[in-house]
Amino acid sequence: MPSENILEVINLKKYFKVSKGVIKAVDDISFTVKYGETFGLVGESGSGKSTTGHVVVGLYAPTSGKILYEGIDMSMGVERRPLNLKKKIQMVFQDPATSLNPKRTIKQIIELPLKVHGISHGDASQKVAELLQMVELPVEYMDRYPTELGGGERQMVAIARALAVNPSFIILDEPTSALDVSIQAKIINMLMRFQKEFDLSYLFITHNLSLMRNVASRVAIMYLGKIAELAPTEEFFYNPLHPYTKMLLSSIPVITDEEEAMKPKKVISTGEIPGALNVPPGCSFHPRCPERLEICDKVDPCMLEISPGHFVRCHLYNSMKV
Ligand code: SF4
Repeated sequence: MPSENILEVINLKKYFKVSKGVIKAVDDISFTVKYGETFGLVGESGSGKSTTGHVVVGLYAPTSGKILYEGIDMSMGVERRPLNLKKKIQMVFQDPATSLNPKRTIKQIIELPLKVHGISHGDASQKVAELLQMVELPVEYMDRYPTELGGGERQMVAIARALAVNPSFIILDEPTSALDVSIQAKIINMLMRFQKEFDLSYLFITHNLSLMRNVASRVAIMYLGKIAELAPTEEFFYNPLHPYTKMLLSSIPVITDEEEAMKPKKVISTGEIPGALNVPPGCSFHPRCPERLEICDKVDPCMLEISPGHFVRCHLYNSMKV
């Protein structure tokens, strides 16, 4: 039977050696992304979510673990990936002001991947014009430079560049967080439309939990390099289990009375937020956890499947696994 997963990330680790020690940016995480789904990877700054995206797209080779794309091993840096598969995984970065080369025109930016991947050898004006129209930008922008465009327009160029090579899988790394609120909904709606039109699967990396409620089919939350909880979106929001998830959900604003009623009671975090270089022993969340047990500062909990598709890494549930 063919797999339902376009991407499998298995026991992925990415460590960085620095002068003061080793930063375990991604520390043994596993998840899958299904064909056509939006998988939300959520976390605070320093949780390892963006590093995960960078490893999946091939900007970094993993320290260990596997990345399978349609069952094919892609656990190497991008330069060693087969060219025909490399183009299948694209990324849209957080800040288009830095991800677009300011010295190149919009045409040069969008046609570069077409040339690199051998899709276009000569003048790609026609294809670039089609891509600009697709992202609702005027064709005349072709001859402009990124600095002449607004932030939202630059992000639309970045999306056009990602779509240029007909990918199947796109990593969206905080694609709207550097933009004005007025343009964020437009970009999200556009991404959701393209997902349907082009059968795309998304790994959506964000710190914005509320956004995931509307766009993701499953959500995983990262804390200091590890996944704390992973569940289908509805289950994640209405039956959160991990104390960290409850803490975050209890502090996000909601609009409707129904959402307010479903929100966990306000959870107050104790202790300091540790840094990546001084990850606490045992469960790394224990200094902040209001529900910690005696075992928590000694033993790192394992990931448990509490109900089908709902995983949590916490000693509170040791006796509940399915
Ligand atoms: Fe809190 Fe312990 Fe669960 Fe960690 S393992 S989240 S410290 S209860």
